[in-house]
Amino acid sequence: MIKLHVSLWVEFVFISFRAVLCLLEMSLSSVQSTLSTLKSCQADIGACMDMISDVALGIVEAQGMNNSPSLKKLEEMIMECSRLDREINCFVESVDEKTAQVRNEPPEAMVHLRNSVKDRFSELMAGVSDADLQRHSKVVAFKDSIRKYAMQGQTDAENEEEELDEDIAVTQSQTNFICPLTQVEMVNPVKNKKCSHYYDQAAVLEMIKAKHKNKKNFRCPKVGCDNRDVQQSDLELDLVMKRMIQNHKRQSGKT
Ligand SMILES: [Zn+2]
Repeated sequence: MIKLHVSLWVEFVFISFRAVLCLLEMSLSSVQSTLSTLKSCQADIGACMDMISDVALGIVEAQGMNNSPSLKKLEEMIMECSRLDREINCFVESVDEKTAQVRNEPPEAMVHLRNSVKDRFSELMAGVSDADLQRHSKVVAFKDSIRKYAMQGQTDAENEEEELDEDIAVTQSQTNFICPLTQVEMVNPVKNKKCSHYYDQAAVLEMIKAKHKNKKNFRCPKVGCDNRDVQQSDLELDLVMKRMIQNHKRQSGKT
C-alpha cells in the first residue's frame, strides 16, 4: 500500500513539474501559485516518510533487527521519498532563480526560460549525492528510531529478567507519557530538540500558533524548564515513544 502511495506521489510530482514548465511560457504569477502547491506536497511526503518509519518499527517489534529484507525495502522507499523531496527543493530553487533573472531582462528572454530552468534543475540534481539524501532529517530519524526501538526491546527483556519492581516501572513510564499541556497520555508525542521535553503534537502546535498570533513566545510548559521560545521547527515526531505509549495502553487494557 505504501509502495503505491509513494509511486502515486512520484507521478503526481512529475505531472506538477511539467505543469510548471508549461506555465513558464504563460505567466509568472501562475507559476508562483503552482509552485506553492508543489511546496505543500512536501508536507505529504514528510507524512509518508513517518508512515514508512512506523511500519519499520512494527517489523522490528515482530521480528527484531535480523537484517530483514522488508526493512531493506522500507529503507529504499524512504530514500525514494528523500529524493523526491530534494527534487522539489531543486526545482523550486531553479524556477525562483531563473524567473528572478528574467524579470530584469527584455521580454524575449521569456522564450528561453523553460530551457534555462530545465538546465539549472539538472545541474542542481547532478550535485545531489546519496549521502545528501541520507542526511534528510526523516531518513536520519528512520534509522535512529529503528536502532532505539531495537535497543528498547533488549532493555525490556533484561528488566524482566531482573524482576524490577513493576509498580515503580509502571508509574515512571506513565508519567513520561503524560503531555504537560493536556495532562493526559500523548497520542502523537513530539520531542523538543532544544530541551528534550515531550508534548502532544496537536496541543503544542495549537499553543504555538495561538501565542505567535498574539506576537508572544511560547515557553516550554514542562515545570523547571528554562526554554522560553519553542518553535515548530524544534519539534520532531518520536515514533518510538508513540509505539511505547500504544503498547503500554494495550497492556494496561489487558489487565
Ligand atoms: Zn523544555
